[in-house]
Amino acid sequence: MTGASDGAEVIPVTDPATGQVIGVVPAGGELEARAAVAAAADAFEGWRRTAPAERARALKEAARRLRERARDIAELQTLENGRPLRESMRGVEEAISKLEMYAELGALHRGHSLPGEWGATDMAVREPHGVVALLVPWNDPVAIAGGQIAAALVTGNTVVFKPSELTPLSAIAFVRAFELPDGVLNLLHGDARAGAPLVADPRVALVAHTGSVATGREIARVCAERGARCLLELGGKDPLIVDRDVDPAWAAEQAAGGAFANAGQVCTSVERIYAHRDVAEEFAEELARRADALRVGPGLDPASEMGPLIDERQLAVVDRHVREALDGGAQARAGGRRLDGEGFFYAPTVLVGARPEMLIMREETFGPVAAIQVVGSFDEAIAAANASDYGLAATVLTASQANARRAWRELDVGTVKVNSAWGGAPGAAPHPRRSSGVGGSGYGPELLDEMTRVKVVHMKHAPGRAG
Ligand code: NAD
Repeated sequence: MTGASDGAEVIPVTDPATGQVIGVVPAGGELEARAAVAAAADAFEGWRRTAPAERARALKEAARRLRERARDIAELQTLENGRPLRESMRGVEEAISKLEMYAELGALHRGHSLPGEWGATDMAVREPHGVVALLVPWNDPVAIAGGQIAAALVTGNTVVFKPSELTPLSAIAFVRAFELPDGVLNLLHGDARAGAPLVADPRVALVAHTGSVATGREIARVCAERGARCLLELGGKDPLIVDRDVDPAWAAEQAAGGAFANAGQVCTSVERIYAHRDVAEEFAEELARRADALRVGPGLDPASEMGPLIDERQLAVVDRHVREALDGGAQARAGGRRLDGEGFFYAPTVLVGARPEMLIMREETFGPVAAIQVVGSFDEAIAAANASDYGLAATVLTASQANARRAWRELDVGTVKVNSAWGGAPGAAPHPRRSSGVGGSGYGPELLDEMTRVKVVHMKHAPGRAG
């Protein structure tokens, strides 16, 4: 494995629970990106010729080492991104299970034969792309990196992995668990100054970016210009619909879990709520009670149920959305403000009186804010939920089978969750809609398709030379 920069510039890593710098990493740039790609390109021929079973074995060994180091890596992730430790542990466990899953599936990943003419063999063969660049965000860094690295490596690609500049320390610990030939897995530190030249490098055949819409669009543009493939898993503004026939206290429990987990910094957080007027008041009251009762504190404190926001910039985004809603006539039933003291904490917030034109109902907030708009019918809720630039996931809470069926048919998103704000099959492979992504396939077996390309082979026998 190659390291990153030997340049003099560094990027400080901050604990969002205290605002204190806890480490530094080299600030990679064009030179470092080029070196990482060169190492990956050099290693490609050797790695693609390595037997799939052997590639799979390397992943299983990494999974075993990760299991031994799981708690240390989870603690590092919590130190860097503030997530409560038990959630970080789940992220590390998810990464391990993805390594194991792709180790099993990757060795079996196959093309197919085609019905061709008699005397010929026609095949669709799956081949690795070559050098794959993985750009990973900070909010669930280990789990995301684990799935993508595993799927890319097991299919014979070599990888340049660029973690977020906000969470590089857990990435270093994660990558150390892999024992691979030189150049097969390369860690590139840095921010956009490292990411942009990586994406632009003509030797990178596939770019997989998980992150914000703005960055994703820029990456899509650069890839389109040079004819490279890209997979984009981007932001969300997920709606939650509360139907008139559900228990409002149970609905509030679902909404609280959906809106406040990881302080709302999950791509599929509940970001906007459409509550039927028959239950809206009771629902809002119970949700505010839950928000007020949440124990907010450093992620390493086992008593903490919700941690801080990632940084000052994110705090400013959340506060701007909330202020604009309050100025426009919404009311805060809970929270609505930054918490005093060190670190980047924002109070779990419940807003009532939200309206469609407000930022809080339109743009990704990525904070612990549950904004409620009252609706008069299920039709109105579905229409409002669909009236968004985003299309990642949606939740509907309803006791009506007919409305549940309508919801999953009519909601124009990649994932529909009925009567549960979280959960889903571990190998699910949704296709995000509109601004939420292009060509992504989650972490199911389909990701192996994305990490490979098809070559069609038509083969006949040549007659031997006479004599
Ligand atoms: P981001 O797009 O700013 O950064 C993601 C990665 O891209 C980082 O490694 C970053 O350094 C790199 N990067 C930034 N600018 C770049 C550029 N110009 N060229 C190349 N690389 C560049 O996103 P973020 O703030 O780290 O993450 C939060 C976002 O990620 C939210 O919008 C969230 O919804 C989204 N997200 C989506 C999913 C999903 O599966 N759909 C999962 C997790 C997070």
